[in-house]
Amino acid sequence: MSEEALREELVALGASLFQRGFSVGSAGNISVRLPDGYLMTPTNSCLGRLEAARISKLDLAWNHVGGDRPTKEVFLHRAFLEARPDAGAVVHLHSTHATALSCLDGAIPPLTPYFVMRAGREVPLIPYYRPGDAAMEPAIREAARRAKAVLLANHGPVICGPSLTDAVNAAEELEEAAKLALLLRGANPRLLTPAQVDDLLRTFG
Ligand code: ZN
Repeated sequence: MSEEALREELVALGASLFQRGFSVGSAGNISVRLPDGYLMTPTNSCLGRLEAARISKLDLAWNHVGGDRPTKEVFLHRAFLEARPDAGAVVHLHSTHATALSCLDGAIPPLTPYFVMRAGREVPLIPYYRPGDAAMEPAIREAARRAKAVLLANHGPVICGPSLTDAVNAAEELEEAAKLALLLRGANPRLLTPAQVDDLLRTFG
């Protein structure tokens, strides 16, 4: 897909996430890997009102080379995109249910196959760091080597996918899984067994 088409897709998917309440105000940010660098949502931008021409562009060394200044949370994206060559895009949200779980123990059990297919075997909980604390990046990078998604304690989820559409779908699936986990808290739900999780990961990668 061309950079121009990816910019348009980013605008459309950002608006879709915003309109359905996955992101409010200027919360949340999205990045996309390009052959010559990265696209990133701008600092203080609202996902519901992105403009294709103003989306930040960074070169392969993460220097800002075009558009508005990138999100202050650029390091979350850098940690994932550098740790995971399979990540074509990264979505970070402050979506309600995943953020609620990030204030608890962060556990999202394997309730549905689609969550396991999108997020994998585990979603590590990264300890709390003050926004902008440089120590957060190595912690995320370490977890991203073994996981496609993390929960930042008292903050929200970060998840990647092979393409922009995949990453957005994965972020939505993660939020739904967190919602189910909260709805079923205190109940005794039937979880997928380790063998069922293995079978899903073998079959769908
Ligand atoms: Zn954030």
